[in-house]
Amino acid sequence: MNNDPVPALLSRATAILEAQFASLPDFSAPADTAAMERILAETALRLGDNFPYFHPLYAGQMLRPPHPLARAAYALAMSINPNNHARDGGRASSEMEIEAVRQIAGIFGWTDFLGHLTSGGTFANLEALWIAGQLNPGKRNVASEQAHYTHSRISAALKLDFSSIAADRSGRMDLNALESELRKGDVGTVVATLGTTAIGAVDPLDEIIKLRERYGFRIHVDGAYGGYFRLILDALDEPARRAYAALDQADSIVVDPHKHGLQPYGCGCILFRDPSVGRFYKHDSPYTYFTSRELHLGEISLECSRAGASAVALWATQQLLPPVPGGEFAHGLGQGRAAAMELDRRLRQSPLFQPLLAGPPELDIVVWKVAAATPQEASAKAQKIFDDCAVQNLHLALVQLPLIWFEGEVVNANIGSGNVTCLRSVLMKPEHREWLDEIWQRLTAASAENK
Ligand SMILES: *Cc1c(COP(=O)(O)O)cnc(C)c1O
Repeated sequence: MNNDPVPALLSRATAILEAQFASLPDFSAPADTAAMERILAETALRLGDNFPYFHPLYAGQMLRPPHPLARAAYALAMSINPNNHARDGGRASSEMEIEAVRQIAGIFGWTDFLGHLTSGGTFANLEALWIAGQLNPGKRNVASEQAHYTHSRISAALKLDFSSIAADRSGRMDLNALESELRKGDVGTVVATLGTTAIGAVDPLDEIIKLRERYGFRIHVDGAYGGYFRLILDALDEPARRAYAALDQADSIVVDPHKHGLQPYGCGCILFRDPSVGRFYKHDSPYTYFTSRELHLGEISLECSRAGASAVALWATQQLLPPVPGGEFAHGLGQGRAAAMELDRRLRQSPLFQPLLAGPPELDIVVWKVAAATPQEASAKAQKIFDDCAVQNLHLALVQLPLIWFEGEVVNANIGSGNVTCLRSVLMKPEHREWLDEIWQRLTAASAENK
């Protein structure tokens, strides 16, 4: 927030935009600026009741501030307020959406594809499963028990059966459990999550693709969080690297520019490898298309109105920071991942904590249990450390995870089948690398007090 470049950038660009409409006769809409100023001041006071998501000491949930250029471009576009449903609603912003989405598809090596932006990852996943259901009528969707909670709900909304597949101790989909479901012969779509929400686990997509050859099903990749990590393949460890290398062979991919792509909410993206699935979107709107004979984004989208400003912000951001391997944006992803690896390394050396037995994080999310005599005590301590860190301006997150992920064979079966509250840190800002010492200091101080 310090030295925010957005107001100055925005005022110069607004002048350029306004000049292009200078031939219009003047008009003025009534505006009570005194009242607006008063209310906006009140709004600012209300907004102070938030965690400081923009600061590197916010290292909790999947929250990353939009790039200043994205904020400026979004605000600039709002003075026009284009609607990317159809070219009637936003000619320039529709073009920008097409260009920006093509760049995202390029991350996965796709050039001939169908895709568009959505209001978020949930809606993008809904479109993927909607198409999948039409291609495989009467068949089931399956996803790992660590997949995003919305997949079962989306399936219910689409009236498609859904089953969840056990995850192994790394939080990845268990291939044996998957295969025993596949043998039943009624699985239409497997959702592979590349970057689970809880711990950033990467389902073994390359192995799932081998099973597809044998059993025949669609593969939808939920990369809402982790999709962009395809850009730093070489910084990932096996087996995540193999899963990411196979991404181009998925049937559909979801990635959220509003998670790791430096965009304000809501900006999701759905991509289909086979552009002919566009036929399922066909509809006959009598009133939304007038001026153009070209393909409207509204003809390949389930949503009607969509924010043109989202497309404009994404386009502008990608002009500055193209999503390509070796670029500055990819470098930033690597910084967050390096911060996560370093935090994990320190956690493993401390007697106060128990990191995942399976090994270091696959992406940039770190989870750890607090060392304690019983799971109940570990959970209570995690909550206390979480609260004490927040008092020191270090914001972490809490997550419920299976106890066996941390303790291996648990002797007491009653306890062993249960979850334990753990601490979780999503290190998704490049600055987290530099701030790691500061984060570590505050975490260990709060943890030592709660020993
Ligand atoms: C965040 C997330 C979603 C949901 O996306 P929204 O943009 O919040 O709707 C789906 N899947 C995964 C893996 C996610 O991390």
